Amino acid sequence: SEEQLAHAQRLDALGQLTGGIAHDFNNLLTIVSGNLQLLEWDLEADSSARETIASASRAVERGSTLTRKLLSFSRRQRLNPQQVRTELLLADLSEMLARTLGERIRVVADCPLGLPAVFADPGELEAALVNLALNARDAMPRGGKISINARLHEQTMDGGDLLPGPYVVFTVVDSGVGMLPDVLSRAVEPFFTTKTGGKGSGLGLSMVYGFVKQSSGKLSIHSEPGSGTRVELYLPSVEYRAAVAPAADIVEGDETV
Ligand code: ADP
Repeated sequence: SEEQLAHAQRLDALGQLTGGIAHDFNNLLTIVSGNLQLLEWDLEADSSARETIASASRAVERGSTLTRKLLSFSRRQRLNPQQVRTELLLADLSEMLARTLGERIRVVADCPLGLPAVFADPGELEAALVNLALNARDAMPRGGKISINARLHEQTMDGGDLLPGPYVVFTVVDSGVGMLPDVLSRAVEPFFTTKTGGKGSGLGLSMVYGFVKQSSGKLSIHSEPGSGTRVELYLPSVEYRAAVAPAADIVEGDETV
């Protein structure tokens, strides 16, 4: 629809703007970080300036994490797509999340046997799923279950939809607070956050969006206030990759961006 197109164009414009800034900023951070390193080398082992430099380095590190997410959003991240085995990825991910998300959050990950591998950048894919899991956790302050699944999406299974397939679809589901329509419509924008007290950067879904787009996939979000959120990442399977050149942007459904 026209509205979806306008939304996609707005995100594109934002991506170009933020991508330029993030790129230059990243170069500056590299210089700062290099100089801190030089300073550190010159210090005596017991110098009290060590802690000062370490603290500055941590701030630089946070800055480059932010710029990396912005570069992902604007699709200027250098991706290194390769075959990623879905079962292995989900097994590693759920183990890591179970350790880090705390006792109140149960992580259940599952995928059918024999699912084809995904063709995507493994580090960025993991980062994307971690971002979604963190959002799911934040949406369930009193705890709950996060389901992470993968399934195959065949072109032929998709009545009327023009997606070339097959895709592997990752789904992250929570039963948290959900999003009102105006939040949902802005959720992917960089710096849009409803989290207060410095808890949100508003870059999580932006990163996920840019990564998925740059990987010839699509992102789809369904959310009901009071009952939960389901986020789906469509990513090309290795079979798809072999059959088709990189696809154009794919837009479908109301909540799809
Ligand atoms: P951040 O998590 O830093 O706020 P995101 O871009 O990841 O940034 O998310 C933007 C906003 O979208 C969040 O502040 C929240 O309002 C909403 N949101 C994202 N994921 C969920 C979810 N699983 N449940 C409810 N709201 C969500």
